[in-house]
Amino acid sequence: MTSSNWGYDDKSGPEQWSKMYPIANGKNQSPIDIKTSETKHDTSLKPISISYDPATAKEIINVGHSFHVNYEDTDNRSVLKGGPLSESYRLYQFHFHWGSTNDYGSEHTVDGVKYSGEFHLVHWNSAKYSSFAEAISQADGLAIIGVLMKVDQANPRLQKVLDALNAVKTKNKRAPFTNFDPSTLLPSSLDYWTYSGSLTHPPLHESVTWIICKEKIGISPEQLAQFRSLLSTVEGDKAVPMQRNNRPPQPLNDRIVRASF
Ligand SMILES: [Zn+2]
Repeated sequence: MTSSNWGYDDKSGPEQWSKMYPIANGKNQSPIDIKTSETKHDTSLKPISISYDPATAKEIINVGHSFHVNYEDTDNRSVLKGGPLSESYRLYQFHFHWGSTNDYGSEHTVDGVKYSGEFHLVHWNSAKYSSFAEAISQADGLAIIGVLMKVDQANPRLQKVLDALNAVKTKNKRAPFTNFDPSTLLPSSLDYWTYSGSLTHPPLHESVTWIICKEKIGISPEQLAQFRSLLSTVEGDKAVPMQRNNRPPQPLNDRIVRASF
């Protein structure tokens, strides 16, 4: 494994990451199992405040281990505020995690329960830093909203994203993706847990304020299969589908998970 070819199989997967990225064994890694009886209700936590401009949606990219939908982040048109945050965080991209079967696929788990997928909305601290690249390694640099996904009826709100996957079937493919407000994918309740953690894949920086929604969103087996049908290989190479891309839970150590509810 080199710094650029990490993945999720036995040879290059989460168990191997610490060889190239020692912080994989750090004290503040993500994801975690949220043990609800050990979370602490914090009355000082504010409601989450989201304001996204659909016009900032930019493009969809197959990055080999997943696909990203990227947003224009040169100004504060799409921002996350409130919750546990004392500053304004700019929307950078969103993506999903899933498993090879519907029995697992989420990164965070709740009382040991694995969900079939997880939706991540990634933001960076634009009050203190000048770019995502600068913020990514700072303790207060990133804020990610995570939403657990459970198998249910087809989720019509995912359709525009799923329809775009055909254009980015193979690694490094990109296509325009415009006019989309990803807050439409959030659950109706924005009650949340929050804790300090890390990116869940290399470079695994411990720079993330995690905001995990208590309420789950639905996704159908067919929709999950569409995620898995993406290829982790470049066009022309022997096709390898993206079967899974979730890191298992890491030790909580001394951290406290606070609840807004
Ligand atoms: Zn993620």
